[in-house]
Amino acid sequence: MKILEVKNLNLGFDLSDGFCQAIYGVSFDLEKGETLAIVGESGCGKTISTMSILQLLPETARITGGEILYNNNNLLGFNQKQMQKIRGKKIALIPQDPMTSLNPLYTIGNQLLEIIELHQGLRGKEAFDIAVEALERVKIPDAREKMKAYPHEFSGGMKQRVIIAMALACNAEVIIADEPTTALDVTVQAQIMEILREVKSKYNLSLILITHDLGIVAENADKIAVMYAGRIVEYASKDKLFNNPKHPYTRALLNVILDINTTDVKTIEGQPPSITDKITGCPFHPRCQDCMEICTKIDPQLKEINHCAKTACHLYD
Ligand code: SF4
Repeated sequence: MKILEVKNLNLGFDLSDGFCQAIYGVSFDLEKGETLAIVGESGCGKTISTMSILQLLPETARITGGEILYNNNNLLGFNQKQMQKIRGKKIALIPQDPMTSLNPLYTIGNQLLEIIELHQGLRGKEAFDIAVEALERVKIPDAREKMKAYPHEFSGGMKQRVIIAMALACNAEVIIADEPTTALDVTVQAQIMEILREVKSKYNLSLILITHDLGIVAENADKIAVMYAGRIVEYASKDKLFNNPKHPYTRALLNVILDINTTDVKTIEGQPPSITDKITGCPFHPRCQDCMEICTKIDPQLKEINHCAKTACHLYD
């Protein structure tokens, strides 16, 4: 059952010298209990595409087309009051920096109790018990005592656990995790990903995992959308994408991982375009080793090339 569908999303920014398109016809969907990883280099549009789901966009951003269906309701038609009932309660965000979601002036307990009251209408002992249970589910030791702690008393990893606990306390159905472990050291990263995997499977949650780390993707994703220059350039199950990558950009990303594993660190040559660059043809063509004449003229469209796998590349025309 599809819980979330982003269809043909187009988005741009109103800049001082005019409108600048940043997202080009992005589409993806999420089944109940599934993990979709959205990968790509910084600035490829993965965060802004998912922030559109929660309508947490900068003031200058403007959605110019598309639909975002949550349980078949188009969120783009929702006003702010309606969206408040979705954000946190139905679709929760785990940001890269947990302090953007935690208030340093209030205890962890107060913040949990506040969202439980806001989203579930519960107070007193009932709310307190739910909050403690949520902290226990994410393996925070002495959860009852920790309710009295302030965020600064927690490490980065523990703060991230609190954010996950907040999503659980509200019975969120979808979690959007935006580079949730980037700011943490490697051991803590592994612990946070394990907790996310556990709660996701126990409560049949659906997860959108935004990351540039294909190692994390390999361990966690069911399917993957690879983004480049505001477009999805490859969309496939994890097995298909890792075993038989089609798009030259995906192959280059995977080569970087393989070379890191063999200690021969390599990067993809060149830089991705910025959103203000005027692009003709395939946006990857200046960096692509398979570039053909047509690639400099026509932007390839995403199309199915292998059952349920899609790519945007003229190699498969
Ligand atoms: Fe490379 Fe051409 Fe495919 Fe773009 S369309 S990725 S330039 S082969």
